[in-house]
Amino acid sequence: MAYVAFDLDATLGFFELTNQLAYLWSPEFVENPEQSALNKPLGLSTKLISKLKRARMIFANSLLRDPELLYIVLRRNLDSIFVPLLNAKKNRKLQSVIIYSNTSVSYSMELAKYLIEHIYNSPNLISLMADHWSPLRSADRPAFVPKNTYVQPNKTITTIKLLFQTATQSQRAPQTNKIIFFDDRDPKHMLQEQEKEGLIYVVPTAYYPSFTEHHARSILFLAFEALHRSGVLSDKEYLDSGFCNRVIPYDYTKKHRIRGFPALYMYVWNQMLKIQTPREAWISDTAALQEKVNTFLQHI
Ligand SMILES: [Mg+2]
Repeated sequence: MAYVAFDLDATLGFFELTNQLAYLWSPEFVENPEQSALNKPLGLSTKLISKLKRARMIFANSLLRDPELLYIVLRRNLDSIFVPLLNAKKNRKLQSVIIYSNTSVSYSMELAKYLIEHIYNSPNLISLMADHWSPLRSADRPAFVPKNTYVQPNKTITTIKLLFQTATQSQRAPQTNKIIFFDDRDPKHMLQEQEKEGLIYVVPTAYYPSFTEHHARSILFLAFEALHRSGVLSDKEYLDSGFCNRVIPYDYTKKHRIRGFPALYMYVWNQMLKIQTPREAWISDTAALQEKVNTFLQHI
């Protein structure tokens, strides 16, 4: 049985633009330890929570209808990985697919899962997502982190096995040689030490698509429209909530004070405009990915 783990950023797609949208509608993100440190708890009603969920869904569906924007967010050649994987699923050879990421924006993982499961018409294909904050990642944390610095957690064999065990609710951890791990990072994560034990570690070319200001503007417009259509924008509870009235920490040194929805929207827009379009074109690696996935599946 095959166990498949994906990194998020630059592996499954380019989420720098959508990361910013989390400030508009993701309670999970706004309440993470870093974002909530300077703010009161949100305390949202279940009605508003479900409106926000609907807004996120309307936005994701709009992306699915617009391939030009969709493939700025999502890796363009995911077919080379997911078509063989779904074949393996049909043949009952696929045990588990998870996202194992250092992102602090759980919203972008949620979006990636939604888009992929809809494109491949495979609900619940991705059964677990572990981000920077995941309590399952204690083996990944550095022993010491100097104050006001960011140290990227490791990705380790201990954690990846624990994640799969949790995802499959199994008593036993998977064998190392049944695991394939996709991560664009150069240099590789600590997990590379297990390649000699049969772990398949694939490094896709980092996905940095070209996009224009017009594209960024269109993505933000779709988000605005989704907030409107879900009734969030006319919801007094939302407008008075901790989304629209908060202190946003960033860079460990600066803070942004948000008072009201226009200020929030302006903040998100300014952050999106700062995101650079890549200097060099992304190099497609379709054939290489396909070959690696097929070779892995042959040995499962
Ligand atoms: Mg990455």
